[in-house]
Amino acid sequence: MQFFPIFLRSEGARIVVSGGGETALAKLRLLLKTRARIAVHAAEADPKILDWQAEGRLSWVARPVEAADLEGARLVYAATDDAAEDARVAGLARAAGVLFNIVDNREDSAFITPAMVDRDPVVVAIGTEGAAPVLARKIKAGLEAWLPAGLGARVRAANAFRPEAEALPQGRARRGFWAAVFDGALDGRAPEPLDRLLEAHKAARPAVGEVLFVGAGPGDPDDLTMRARRALDRADVVIHDRLVPAPILELARREAEIVEAGKTGFGPSTPQEGINRLIVGRAAEGLVVVRLKAGDPSVFGRLDEEIEACEAAGIAWSVVPGLTAASAAAASLGQSLTRRGRNSELRVLTGHDVNGLADHDWATLARPGAVAAIYMGKRAARFIQGRLMMHGAEAATPVSVVENAGRPGERILAATLGTLATEIASAGLTGPAVILLGLAPRAAARSLPLLQEAAR
Ligand code: SAH
Repeated sequence: MQFFPIFLRSEGARIVVSGGGETALAKLRLLLKTRARIAVHAAEADPKILDWQAEGRLSWVARPVEAADLEGARLVYAATDDAAEDARVAGLARAAGVLFNIVDNREDSAFITPAMVDRDPVVVAIGTEGAAPVLARKIKAGLEAWLPAGLGARVRAANAFRPEAEALPQGRARRGFWAAVFDGALDGRAPEPLDRLLEAHKAARPAVGEVLFVGAGPGDPDDLTMRARRALDRADVVIHDRLVPAPILELARREAEIVEAGKTGFGPSTPQEGINRLIVGRAAEGLVVVRLKAGDPSVFGRLDEEIEACEAAGIAWSVVPGLTAASAAAASLGQSLTRRGRNSELRVLTGHDVNGLADHDWATLARPGAVAAIYMGKRAARFIQGRLMMHGAEAATPVSVVENAGRPGERILAATLGTLATEIASAGLTGPAVILLGLAPRAAARSLPLLQEAAR
């Protein structure tokens, strides 16, 4: 981020605008929405500025900005349309340590003004750092159409109701009330009277916790299911695997506590016991716990152990399936995992299990046409290769390795069984990788163009 967005307190602030023409007027229309004291400096001022002065909304000083004018100012806009004069004012501002904007000159400005959607007190600021002003306008138009005109009034009414809402216990009960207050606020549904809603919530039974085992998919937020999105929206706590990337965690409810499992440090217990205790403990407090696992929770996710812990504690649970890595990898190869006449069976294997390198039914896997998705197989590649060839598999059997399947940085290694181990070793894989035995990338297959772009 070259420009960092913030919301600046305008009350008590003084903002200086240099310029009295159209450019200055455009900024003034925005600035007059604030509570700042505004001083306009211009030898000549547009009649509109004189009107605003007459209304007491700003003060006009009929000369250019001087150093002393900037003392204690919060912001300065250089908006004279005269590059030399704007640069002079910017220089004064820089010397005085006051943030300045030169209108239409992002390069030399200390700050820039975003595109705005105003439903005061709800304000959305949009910026593209100048990279795509047309896109910014589109986003603005989309938001203008989306956010109902009455949204600001509704938020103000709700804010004024805050003291009454404190009758509800802090935490889930109160949050549930506010969620109900804004339910439908974005699709223009008329609000329920706040006092009636509050009475209903006061009468409600105390919250019961639950655990949602949610599949996060291969790593791109676009590959989350709607159900997973909704679960993240409801979460009080998100307990996630290391493999779940930040853009997905960012979709969790803003107040949600985010915990990376495995980093929780739970004394002498095994990490899994620690995770079980964390999950159950938080749910027992009445919280909605989202246990977020990469891919699908039922594939090499130790789901059963965690479900059993919930059941032992009498905690309600449910599973939200996700897209498993093998599906994302097959999609990127442009291949199907099963195919008539080739394989009527698909094996899902792990390279490692609790005993180290995992043993499998190698004879079946070595048959021509066999297809298997091998998880956690990077370090087991040489072992797998050896076992399969020992059981008669052809060295020319296609094997694909898909690193970072379905997420930025995706890489496909098109190997054969004979070259698998050396290819993996020389590729220097750093991300998660799934090995697809028996599948080669289809010649014309391409991974999602957007992802490729993101990886560049
Ligand atoms: N539940 C997960 C698997 C967890 S085991 C799922 O359904 O996908 C962890 C292994 O999954 C990793 O070692 C790797 O083999 C595989 N994996 C997970 N995400 C991946 C991704 N985006 N690309 C490739 N492999 C991935």
